[in-house]
Amino acid sequence: MTPDDVIEIMKLGNRRFMSDSLTKRVHTKQVRAAALGQFPKAIVLGCVDSRVPVEDVFDLGIGDVFVARIAGNFANTDIIGSMEFACKVSGSMVVMVMGHEDCGAIMGAIDRVQLGNLTATLNNLQPAVQAVPGFEGDRDATNGKFVQAVADKMSF
Ligand SMILES: [Zn+2]
Repeated sequence: MTPDDVIEIMKLGNRRFMSDSLTKRVHTKQVRAAALGQFPKAIVLGCVDSRVPVEDVFDLGIGDVFVARIAGNFANTDIIGSMEFACKVSGSMVVMVMGHEDCGAIMGAIDRVQLGNLTATLNNLQPAVQAVPGFEGDRDATNGKFVQAVADKMSF
């Protein structure tokens, strides 16, 4: 199996998700099978948003993929360390960063939300906010075009 094969499997799974034809799985059976070890071929970095469940989005089951989730799907030292574990220790061949539409974390970073530890979390997204140069319209979360421009800056 090559990284391209893994990406193709994920693309096909995403098509099943999009066509509402997910594979039916018996999770208790998969948990028992995974107890012998795990060899996921990919790690996905996604947002904590409850509307983008990674395994469902790619029609994958228990033991099929590592998933790291954090508001705004940015990579810090802890996330990168987890990716290193996935790739260097467990043999994953693909690192995928998956953003999503209407990300509340991006909107919160744009509006500089102040709320406990979330403030520090969202500060990690400021480089993307600042990377959008002069912009027509309001530079706040009510401007969907600005929110999308910031999200585009988070791509790498
Ligand atoms: Zn989000």
